[in-house]
Amino acid sequence: MSTRPDQFSTGDDPIASALAGFARAHGATVRVSLDPAYVVAADPAPTRRVALVSGGGSGHEPLHTGFVGRGGLDAAIPGQVFASPHNQQIFAGARAAALPGGVLLVVKNYTGDVINFRIAAERLRAEGIDVETVLVDDDLATESESTETGRRGTGATVLVEKVLAAAADSGASLADLADLGRRVVAASRSLAVASRAHTAPGGTGPAFDLPAGQLEYGVGIHGERAVSTIDRPGSEEVVDRMLQELLAAVPATPTGYAVLVNGLGAATGLEVYSVLDRVAQGLDARGLTLAAALAGTYVAALDMRGFSITLTALEPGWVEHLAAPTATPALPSTEPVGTVVPAAAQADAGGREVRDDPFLTALGRLVSAAKPELTRLDQVTGDGDFGDNLDGGTRTALASRVAEDEPQPGLRAVEQAFLDHVGGSSGPLYGLLFQNLRTALTDGSGVDAVRAGLRSALEAVQRVGGARPGDRTMADTLHAAANSSGDAADLLRAAVDGAAATADLLPRRGRASYLGERALGTPDPGAVGVAIVLAALVEVIDPTVDAAGLVNPWT
Ligand code: ADP
Ligand code: MG
Repeated sequence: MSTRPDQFSTGDDPIASALAGFARAHGATVRVSLDPAYVVAADPAPTRRVALVSGGGSGHEPLHTGFVGRGGLDAAIPGQVFASPHNQQIFAGARAAALPGGVLLVVKNYTGDVINFRIAAERLRAEGIDVETVLVDDDLATESESTETGRRGTGATVLVEKVLAAAADSGASLADLADLGRRVVAASRSLAVASRAHTAPGGTGPAFDLPAGQLEYGVGIHGERAVSTIDRPGSEEVVDRMLQELLAAVPATPTGYAVLVNGLGAATGLEVYSVLDRVAQGLDARGLTLAAALAGTYVAALDMRGFSITLTALEPGWVEHLAAPTATPALPSTEPVGTVVPAAAQADAGGREVRDDPFLTALGRLVSAAKPELTRLDQVTGDGDFGDNLDGGTRTALASRVAEDEPQPGLRAVEQAFLDHVGGSSGPLYGLLFQNLRTALTDGSGVDAVRAGLRSALEAVQRVGGARPGDRTMADTLHAAANSSGDAADLLRAAVDGAAATADLLPRRGRASYLGERALGTPDPGAVGVAIVLAALVEVIDPTVDAAGLVNPWT
């Protein structure tokens, strides 16, 4: 029974079924108990004297269950979604994982967790097991609340658990680990922002409404509203502000900083890495050292759209702990921080400008006129970017330079632009078209040379893209025009007819092939684009032909 219309958990108990799936996926790393629910490491390091145990509400995956294993936790105890585990679960999981040197509990600072872990600690001690607790309370947004509850525990938990796990593997004692954990916590602060709330368990929409253009600044990992909702500044400004506040809150350190950019569930990999780059630049600009860096989803808030930044002021030895190897489903170990090689400065190209080349100016005019229709055609049968690709490449060519002695400057310029800079399937294929036309028109002239160029272009496009005439691609226009007879006007007419006829062909190459019969009735954008290119060429080789008029269905 799926519990919500918009989610995909299976079974009556989504947490139990997720744990069962987790057990199936990680048979060498963990052992899973379903009742009481806990996860223990299958093969902890033999050097470890103290067991590391953590836990908390579900919905934050991969925290904590994903951090169990070699180089990570010895046990993790998942509660219900966003709810503390029961003390009995914690007790059972910790007892199962306990080592002769005792148990260290790593607890995020929430009332329910604190109470349940404390009760479990009492029960463990009653069994003769030594227990210490490290309370993680890194969330800067809850710093100034005039309550007894203190700061929430959030992203720093990842770094705390990683450092402690490496130290535990080196055989550290319970007292030393507890002290180390508290120092890492004291040196760490986090801040989180969100542009969209998570979907509340049992609900169907976002847990709270956030109008477009607003940002929840200082949001919690359970979707607790932040102390402030702000008008959304640019991403750079948000990151800069977060970094500034975090730096003011952690101690200064000569050893450098660890940074964790953590996705809250619906932030993409592209976004978290890009945020990390901004943080790195911010540290750099202040002359501070980034000594360890992580970006990814480690502490989610279900599907909240946002991220947190955690900053830890490092002490000597911690970077080595962060980098120590792990064999857990998801606990990261850091790598040496990499440097970024700046993009090569554009070499001064030299050569001559081509913006007045007759072919290129004709192409620029015709492509601009056809762009809306080309975009529409690709929206119907592909992804809508073909018009931009053809137009972008043409503009790049118009702004470029070619060698002084180039006999076909316009064709050389579009060839370079499309081969080097235009994306999509069509960009490089059009580059080959221009290359073959240029070669043919360097060796010969007039409409026969154009046909020779089209024949070799068709062969090149087939070699690379595999499309045969009849597959509903640009190859169909090339084929029709290459095999035409007569003058330049006849060649262009054949190209236009060939392009138009693709509307009746079933797509067998490119994106349109996913559409099957649904593509019928609309001509292929790449095929139409070739007719536009040939119209520009015909305008130049025979100005008496009304080339623009012949392609006017699309311009
Ligand atoms: P993408 O499909 O990557 O978005 P574009 O939109 O730039 O690429 O170009 C789409 C055009 O590329 C199609 O209309 C078709 O004419 C051409 N095309 C795609 N695949 C091939 C292929 N294998 N051979 C020849 N032409 C192709
Ligand atoms: Mg496309």
